[in-house]
Amino acid sequence: MGRIIYIKNWRSNSYMEEVLNELRNENYSSKDVYKAADKLLRSTKYNTIPVDIVKLLQELDFTVGTQILDDDFCGYIAIDKSTSERFNSKGIIAVNKNDNIGHKRFTIAHELAHYIFDYNPKNESYYNTYKTNDVQTEEEIRANKFAANLLMPSNEFIDEYNSVRECDTNIVASLAEKFKVSAKAITKRMEELNLAY
Ligand SMILES: [Zn+2]
Repeated sequence: MGRIIYIKNWRSNSYMEEVLNELRNENYSSKDVYKAADKLLRSTKYNTIPVDIVKLLQELDFTVGTQILDDDFCGYIAIDKSTSERFNSKGIIAVNKNDNIGHKRFTIAHELAHYIFDYNPKNESYYNTYKTNDVQTEEEIRANKFAANLLMPSNEFIDEYNSVRECDTNIVASLAEKFKVSAKAITKRMEELNLAY
């Protein structure tokens, strides 16, 4: 693993902490986790498209960084006392430096889901790694659904799809540019929303 290059964070506000606690208590599954993504987007000021996922994490008192990781290693979240002291924040989310920007953004949103739904705030430490070929447990499926809905909210996605479809020859590339996610994430989202390409 290489050196962590990180962006300085600032302190979160207690309002966002309240929102996170509500989301934790609402027991979302992969089927309805889109509601949690909607709620979080309504609560943050970083909700315009493309969603500024780094600023959103900084608002939640996380340090976000890139690191040289193995090829199949997308990123990780680490919450513990020494990480907290080192980065003066709640924890760190690091993503693979070699991944494209869309992939990096998706990994950050995926790790955010683990922080909201799988981390127990009563425990001091939490670690979760995200690899390309992870077994698709309910937690992983929920994290991916949350990330897709956070970065590509359905209303905005459908509106944008309808507008690019009229004039663009490459719908997937245009949507990927607009939402700053990978082409693969766009095609998956189009399938979920039954949109033809
Ligand atoms: Zn995961």
